[in-house]
Amino acid sequence: MSLNVPSHASQFLRSRVANVCVAIAGTTSAEVIEKATVAVKETPFLEFRLDYLEKPLLALPRFKQFFADNTAATAIATCRRSANGGKFAGSLAAELEVLTKCAAVGFHMVDLELESAEALKKADLQKLRETGIGLLISHHDFNGTHDLDGIFTRINAFHPDFIKVVSTAKSLIDNLTLIRFLERMNDNSNLIGICMGDAGIISRVLGVRAGSAFTFAAATVGEETGPGQIAARTLLETYRIDQVDAATKVYGVAGNPIRSSLSPIMMNTAFRRETVNAVYLALQTNKLSDLLKLVHDIPIQGISVTMPLKQEIMSHLERTDPLSARIGACNTVLRAQDGKLYGFNTDVAGITGPLEKRMPLAGARILVLGAGGAARAAVFGLREKGANVFILNRTAETAQKLARQSGSKTIRKEALAKSSFDAIINATPIGMAGNKAAPLLEARDLNTKLVFDLVYNPLETPLIHLARQLSIPFITGIEMFVHQGARQFEIWTGKPAPEEEMFRVVLHALRQQAELAAAEAAESKPEAKSKSSAKPVAKPAAKPKAKTKPKPAAKSPAKPAAKPKSVAKPKPAAKSKPSAKPAGKKSAVKAKK
Ligand code: NAP
Repeated sequence: MSLNVPSHASQFLRSRVANVCVAIAGTTSAEVIEKATVAVKETPFLEFRLDYLEKPLLALPRFKQFFADNTAATAIATCRRSANGGKFAGSLAAELEVLTKCAAVGFHMVDLELESAEALKKADLQKLRETGIGLLISHHDFNGTHDLDGIFTRINAFHPDFIKVVSTAKSLIDNLTLIRFLERMNDNSNLIGICMGDAGIISRVLGVRAGSAFTFAAATVGEETGPGQIAARTLLETYRIDQVDAATKVYGVAGNPIRSSLSPIMMNTAFRRETVNAVYLALQTNKLSDLLKLVHDIPIQGISVTMPLKQEIMSHLERTDPLSARIGACNTVLRAQDGKLYGFNTDVAGITGPLEKRMPLAGARILVLGAGGAARAAVFGLREKGANVFILNRTAETAQKLARQSGSKTIRKEALAKSSFDAIINATPIGMAGNKAAPLLEARDLNTKLVFDLVYNPLETPLIHLARQLSIPFITGIEMFVHQGARQFEIWTGKPAPEEEMFRVVLHALRQQAELAAAEAAESKPEAKSKSSAKPVAKPAAKPKAKTKPKPAAKSPAKPAAKPKSVAKPKPAAKSKPSAKPAGKKSAVKAKK
């Protein structure tokens, strides 16, 4: 451990930096200034990626004006050469010229790569320092997380104002390595540590708590300057990085893929709403042993378990509820105070809960499409409630096995037109965004009082669309998603979940995703490209503005309860309520049967 005593200049710089530095990048100086002008209003600490500009020197006068106009801004200038992971194609001398001139423009600090610092003549580096500008020396490892102490020692030899050690998380464990490194070096208030990559999000959120002087964020979603970078607003409003402290409990969703999971926005919103000092992270991994080590060492107090870990985790739990044991899968883990892990399956409640709000399940005839994980939760949950369950699956043997295990029946597709049901549940991925499989059911097969599609992305799946056309009441997959998440929240915190708020934020995020996808699709058409070259930017779903009430079923057979039983009365602040109706669709189309 090396004690780093800051100079007056360093102390001045440290007093100016905030927890989050927003990276600003653009291909023209006008674009950069425009983005910086927006970003500085929310976060005054900025990094200007000059290496993204074709001729950074020519842009400097505009930056001078920007700093004159924004005196509260604190700014780092970065002109990273391509050999070191940046975009600057010039020589080391050219990089040094840009960085040296940044002092006169008003930048407070420059970021110099360790490789450049080591290649420079002492006198040249001295000239840069004599300008009085702060010096941050950085090292980026794009291949993994190796020898962090060694890199620190190499950088520290230059006595810079800030030391930035950036590695890549190839696994969740790399975050732990980085966090332990930051904790070991906690005498160095000038150290910044981050793991890049999808698996590195833990380091981006928990790094500051472990001792990182600050962390970096993207200006908005889609404007990341490093792999795995999080948008500033998401970091500040969803993850509440400013409030993460030693007492903050850590939760997360674990599995793969996890990048586009809506669980973090939903659960962090719930924690914020109920003022629970907790943060919920995306934990991307296929490896259960890595996850269990993290749960033990960070520690993590609760996990939402998704594919492919739902079954595998069962043998590592101290105990599970009886239904999870029968299903053979668990989606919720609670870490007790003694460190032991307990498993629950809230997917079951996610399916039976919304149905029970609309119909009694005892004696109900319910068709389940699929025989995978979600179908198993549906079938066992429904059987426990006394429903008569029929299973239709692509692989008949799997359906037969599940039917035997659960006391259900199987049914052939040809028999559907002559059968009637109280509800049909789709527990296959058919209809999910990106899934090209043909719809399983046609209009003549939908002899049912209710359709429940567990798929929630897109908002209006082909099955929901068909139900709407036939005026059959329906429940969308968002309701299951929110319901299972709400039960997790309650298991972990012992508090009623703010279910309406959770629904609203998920709906908002899905609508944004749909809008972004539509805009991107339009942009990829050649004629659209010529009209606009600006990439649409999705703002994170931090401040949704939906103002309509949820109406999951158009004409529900049994009137849904106004509120789920276990949910507390919505707080007065929750004025806006979600709508389960997909955007743009106002009323059900009459049956075409
Ligand atoms: P899974 O374990 O992989 O099971 C998928 C099931 O769908 C299997 O029975 C499979 O049949 C069947 N299937 C897959 N592709 C098919 C095709 N092209 N034609 C006919 N059948 C097909 O998946 P899961 O975990 O059960 O999840 C299923 C879906 O439920 C997911 O895609 C997700 O959208 C949804 N889900 C939603 C929530 C929520 O919170 N709303 C939660 C969990 C799941 P075979 O046995 O023949 O392979």
